[in-house]
Amino acid sequence: MFSCEELLDHLNDYLDDRAAADVRRQLEAHLGGCPECVVVLDTTSATIKMVSGCRSFELPAQLSAKIMAKIRAQGR
Ligand SMILES: [Zn+2]
Repeated sequence: MFSCEELLDHLNDYLDDRAAADVRRQLEAHLGGCPECVVVLDTTSATIKMVSGCRSFELPAQLSAKIMAKIRAQGR
């Protein structure tokens, strides 16, 4: 199964529907057991909706760093 960091690596592809089938499966398996990442996913997809006019969306670096710091702080 993915770690939280691996999940974040693939999150953009997943939300863009570009993730490979096995990546998607592992990602969803992780989400099933990790409420933290479900929150991250919700936050990220909400952010994407806010900038939906922009075609080549990338997770803002600042947001990414914040999420990573939060996950690291919790020792996962
Ligand atoms: Zn996680």
